[in-house]
Amino acid sequence: MLIGVPKEIKNNERRVGMSAAGVNELVRAGHQVMVEQGAGAGSGIADEDYTGAGAEIVADAAEVWNRADMVVKVKEPIESEYGYLRKDLVLFTYLHLAADEPLTRAILDSGVTAIAYETVQLEDRSLPLLAPMSAIAGRLATQVAAYHLMSPLGGSGVLMGGVPGTAEANVLVIGGGVVGEQSAIMARGLHANVTVMDVNLARLHQIATVHDGGILTRYNTQLDLAEQIAKADVVVGSVLIPGKRAPKLVTDEMVSTMKKGSVLVDVAIDQGGCFEGSRPTTHDDPTFAVHDTIYYCVANMPGSVPVTATAALSSATLPYVLQLASKGWREAIAASPALARGLNAHAGSLTYAGVGEAHGIEV
Ligand code: NAD
Repeated sequence: MLIGVPKEIKNNERRVGMSAAGVNELVRAGHQVMVEQGAGAGSGIADEDYTGAGAEIVADAAEVWNRADMVVKVKEPIESEYGYLRKDLVLFTYLHLAADEPLTRAILDSGVTAIAYETVQLEDRSLPLLAPMSAIAGRLATQVAAYHLMSPLGGSGVLMGGVPGTAEANVLVIGGGVVGEQSAIMARGLHANVTVMDVNLARLHQIATVHDGGILTRYNTQLDLAEQIAKADVVVGSVLIPGKRAPKLVTDEMVSTMKKGSVLVDVAIDQGGCFEGSRPTTHDDPTFAVHDTIYYCVANMPGSVPVTATAALSSATLPYVLQLASKGWREAIAASPALARGLNAHAGSLTYAGVGEAHGIEV
């Protein structure tokens, strides 16, 4: 199969759909890969890295789109790319169609076969192509919190792990899923005191066991949460109720009990945020104050580390790209229920119920 990897043209997007290592695996499996010139630059991958892995570099985006049997991307096509969609093309990328009616219509009008990363789902209901970005956001949450605790940034002046003989920072993580566990691991790695709260007791058991007591766990009730917030130097918000807006768990009143210069990172901001005072911010202007604390609410945290994000995304998508390329999309989804859940549209019809419901289109 001929696979095309165009350059991402959405504002501020520096990731690319496939690493050089991914290209190499596809070429070794007997496929051909075309990469648009400069597509990997923002992720530290030079054109020569791709050619060394066996790709053909193509100067023109239109050529990549028009010649490929399958296009592998990161973000959804933006309006200027709608014209490239066609019925004999397979598109494999993040799509988030439920939130984008114009793109949904463009996909249906074109007849393209659209497989969305975010709806590929394993039997245990986990989302293997969203998880790598959650893991990155979780690790970054601790990193940005540690940074903003420093006095010149307006923080309380506490060093995460202290030094021997001094107190460590108290880090509270609300929601012990992928984001929360990775955030807790990094905070623990910096020698902070870490507590994870969740309403899923089985998940808390798992975290307590795997980390051998190094990460404390508490069942999340309003009273326990208020008590933990008052002691915390850092709060990471990482709850998710799939398909819904995040619940506002941390009230402004709770935050008013925190020490001056404490840092709150609301990773769940892409689902509306789980702190009452949260509003989305950008990498250019990431923080604002609530009472005497610092809020960090950047909605696309992995965008700040494209080198890592591209490598992580490409490793997660590669097994599915290989299946699609080697078997063709029909046989690949017949063989993999996880991949079948990724199919959102084919030949002008929607195939994913959630997208149909969002736009009142029959599935
Ligand atoms: P996940 O499903 O793995 O984990 C969510 C956890 O929240 C689960 O363990 C669940 O039991 C818990 N939870 C639900 N309700 C709760 C409550 N009332 N109290 C305590 N815990 C509760 O999800 P995830 O992959 O970790 O993602 C978490 C959030 O981070 C999502 O909103 C996701 O979209 C977001 N995210 C944001 C960024 C960013 O750049 N800002 C990047 C990646 C992910």
